Amino acid sequence: MINVAGLGVAGSYLLRRLNQEGFDSMGFDPKRPDYYIPCGYATNLDRIKIFASRAGLDMEEYSTVRSSSVTFSGNEFGPVEFAGRGIGTFDKNRFERDLVAGLHTKMAAFRQAEDGFVTVDATGVSRQILGKAEDDHLMYAREIISKKADHKDFYFHFFKKGTGYYWEFPIAGGYHIGAGSLTLDVVDEALRSVQRGFTVGRKIRMKPLFKDMVRGKVIGVGESIGLVSPITGEGILPALESAEILVQIMKRHDDLDMIKMDYRKQVMKAYGYYEQLYDLVSAIQNGETLGFSALRTSLQARRDLIGFGIDFSIRKVIRHFI
Ligand SMILES: Cc1cc2nc3c(=O)[nH]c(=O)nc-3n(C[C@H](O)[C@H](O)[C@H](O)COP(=O)(O)OP(=O)(O)OC[C@H]3O[C@@H](n4cnc5c(N)ncnc54)[C@H](O)[C@@H]3O)c2cc1C
Repeated sequence: MINVAGLGVAGSYLLRRLNQEGFDSMGFDPKRPDYYIPCGYATNLDRIKIFASRAGLDMEEYSTVRSSSVTFSGNEFGPVEFAGRGIGTFDKNRFERDLVAGLHTKMAAFRQAEDGFVTVDATGVSRQILGKAEDDHLMYAREIISKKADHKDFYFHFFKKGTGYYWEFPIAGGYHIGAGSLTLDVVDEALRSVQRGFTVGRKIRMKPLFKDMVRGKVIGVGESIGLVSPITGEGILPALESAEILVQIMKRHDDLDMIKMDYRKQVMKAYGYYEQLYDLVSAIQNGETLGFSALRTSLQARRDLIGFGIDFSIRKVIRHFI
């Protein structure tokens, strides 16, 4: 039996794929089906549709809104526009619900006593099963679901010294407007002029925890192991990809140690560059002078933004930083 603790995007997709591949599995999550977990719902629609179709779902059924233009601005620079190359939003809550429809789930927190071959920690920022990690790094985030926004299409405003950003993302029938930063004061200040509406908030993990991705009979996927881009806060696709990596490895090996070893290797191959991105963001936050290696990391940042679905060009923004 494979226990999947947490049915957010990582756990729901994992449970569905395990079931499709014939694994005996059970999902646990105490949240009500309509409970709203804060998320901007932004993703690369061209990439997520591959995961959706593997799970037997059609992305077009999930109220997708595709962006054509993405604006970046910041304290030190004026608006710069990039073409959208896949970035958009979708109804993530419904997507998660449909992934687990008809599967073995319990509306309850996973308790250590429930035994099995392996337990997957898909509990996101709380890391309920893997436990606390040393040197964890969380940021505050709040989001308002609003009928209107100042900008029609995707808009990011970066705070000074790499301390987070304010966003406006169009969703079907409205906008997700939010802010994430190191302190709640900065978050609240950024959202001060936004019309009040349904508001949600939670902390978000900004640091990859790749040294702490497995423990005993527990393996982590998604945000529990820090699979969140340190540049954009993108966590949906990395969560799905880690779940798919785990499924493929479980199909190859029966031995838990082999599974853990191979999983770590594959996650590092796909997302090891998050460690360099995290170091770059930390250096900017600490006001350090950036060395030559920052140039290489900025190319990884570009790759990260393109993967998110933004036709990002360093040439367009470099003059703001030199
Ligand atoms: C405000 C905000 C906006 C964001 N916007 C975006 C965005 O636009 N695009 C993007 O790509 N990423 C975004 N992210 C990040 C992204 O939402 C997450 O990284 C991603 O959803 C993580 O998925 P997950 O499945 O790992 O965890 P989660 O989606 O957090 O799911 C964890 C689940 O575990 C359950 N759980 C907790 N404890 C237990 C327990 N003991 N037993 C069983 N279940 C348990 C919870 O109820 C929850 O359902 C945003 C994050 C925040 C905070």
